[in-house]
Amino acid sequence: MMEESTSKEANTVRSLNFIEEIIEEDLRMGKNECRVHTRFPPEPNGYLHIGHAKSICLNFGLAKKYNGKTNLRFDDTNPVKEDIEYVDSIKEDVKWLGFDWEDREFYASDYFEQLYEFAVILIRKGKAYVCDMSAEEMSESRGTPTRPGRENPYRNRTIEENLDLFTRMRAGEFPDGAKVLRAKVDMASPNMHMRDPVIYRILHTSHHRTGDKWCIYPMYDFAHGQSDSIEKITHSICTLEFEVHRPLYDWLIQEIGIYAPRQIEFARLNLSYTVMSKRKLLELVQEKQVRGWDDPRMPTICGLRRRGYTPESIRNFADLIGVAKRDNVIDISLLEFCIREDLNKRAMRIMGIINPLKIVLDNYPDELVEEMAAVNNPEDPSAGSRKVPFSKELYIEHEDFMENPPGKFFRLAPGREVRLRSAYIIKCESVTKDPVSGRILEVHCSYDPATKSGMPESNRKVKGTLHWVSVKHAITAEIRMYDRLFMVESPDNAEEGKTYKDFLNPDSLEIKTGFIEPSVRNAIPGQKYQFERLGYYSVDYDSTPDKLVFNCVVPLKDSWSKKEKTK
Ligand code: ATP
Ligand code: MG
Repeated sequence: MMEESTSKEANTVRSLNFIEEIIEEDLRMGKNECRVHTRFPPEPNGYLHIGHAKSICLNFGLAKKYNGKTNLRFDDTNPVKEDIEYVDSIKEDVKWLGFDWEDREFYASDYFEQLYEFAVILIRKGKAYVCDMSAEEMSESRGTPTRPGRENPYRNRTIEENLDLFTRMRAGEFPDGAKVLRAKVDMASPNMHMRDPVIYRILHTSHHRTGDKWCIYPMYDFAHGQSDSIEKITHSICTLEFEVHRPLYDWLIQEIGIYAPRQIEFARLNLSYTVMSKRKLLELVQEKQVRGWDDPRMPTICGLRRRGYTPESIRNFADLIGVAKRDNVIDISLLEFCIREDLNKRAMRIMGIINPLKIVLDNYPDELVEEMAAVNNPEDPSAGSRKVPFSKELYIEHEDFMENPPGKFFRLAPGREVRLRSAYIIKCESVTKDPVSGRILEVHCSYDPATKSGMPESNRKVKGTLHWVSVKHAITAEIRMYDRLFMVESPDNAEEGKTYKDFLNPDSLEIKTGFIEPSVRNAIPGQKYQFERLGYYSVDYDSTPDKLVFNCVVPLKDSWSKKEKTK
């Protein structure tokens, strides 16, 4: 099932979270014959995001820990918003995260007949009735949290009349909205969800799985708990907003007289600088604010995958943030920390230049090309080394040169020496400029042949080490640089009178041309690299053999200087 967990995951000895405590207590009491059975219950009305990933890791992780099972269940009770495209994407994402539901792929729609029977049981007990009020009338008579609701005349319909009307609702005799079936609970309950909630509505809409078989559909609140019960889910884990629904779920299960799962609520994951509501993410896609659900700026799982995130990094993130009982916002930099940590272990190092400045080595032979050995991954000796061509004309990063540097600038400047990674020590001799604009065109340097990497002289002390690419060997690539999708930490509730869309970052995507060492020539989509000193980059799906396209996954923190010192 899951790949071998990372050392981080394995080594962390942490105390039990509150859900694990509940489960262990249930196991001690011998509840549910000591079974642990969880489920991940997405509604197929959008693509999964990092919040869902948290829930997936939690549900599958608990089952794994307690030797239990996890179902994948599509809560597909609303045919208007659901689609098979979403079903497929959800399955792909859960699998990619590294989890396996085996043969337990279920759909609430598979239970429609059973749920209908449950509704009939309630009617027969006098616990549900058909109501003819319009949505407005219903909402008006429901009262407010501080004012009790009013009982309505339909409440007193006889069981026979209710059974007849409900049968005719199913048979398609009434138009959408003409009638609903309501649970007969308590119009004065302080909990609004208990004030005779609607449990069935008429919708003459075909469903992506049941086609035109049904024209009445159960409400989510009537399907969810009962589906858990049908599947004998022991621990039904959901987010905090369902805490207030729990009394209704318990009431329904008890009145119908079926197996009762235990619902446990935890705080949903919120991430800074992004939005997580499926409705808003759909809006961003439909209004083309982003390039699609898998745009690398999106917090969707497919967006993160395209950006270059690994399943391991996301699982580790889910583990690190733990489970909370109160809503909170997690800083997106924690997610970035997790991918850096993972790619540091597994990504090949290469050299690529994003803002080129041309260097000419005046004393280097014109036609000579040397193959310099470069280590693929200092964190992983088994990754070996590769050859990188070196020649008279090179690109370095523009930021690595300053004509009039301040004191602490340890990179290239007139009269100063730097080391070129895996190559030679060079010294800046002169600069040529465009006579009109004054822009620097080329930096002329000399190289010291005695300082070739690996030779004794190469250990000579110089302050800076730069990455480089040979001009005539460089492969040009499209480089997509990303910034936060939103300019503020909480775009959802940043300012009165504004919507999250007012805070979209207009500069969240910047496209550049990079010059990359030739070893990336045959890179395939999804392949990940560390561009030395810059960051982690992943080959985009748009990449072709003729035109490489990279996404910047995350910039590197300045880990370079430290590494150079310890070398
Ligand atoms: P909607 O707003 O459409 O109801 P949702 O985000 O709740 O969407 P679901 O498809 O109902 O989406 O969610 C599937 C599961 O994922 C649920 O158990 C839900 O509680 C959980 N989940 C959704 N969002 C988050 C989140 N941000 N953090 C943790 N779990 C989440
Ligand atoms: Mg939901």
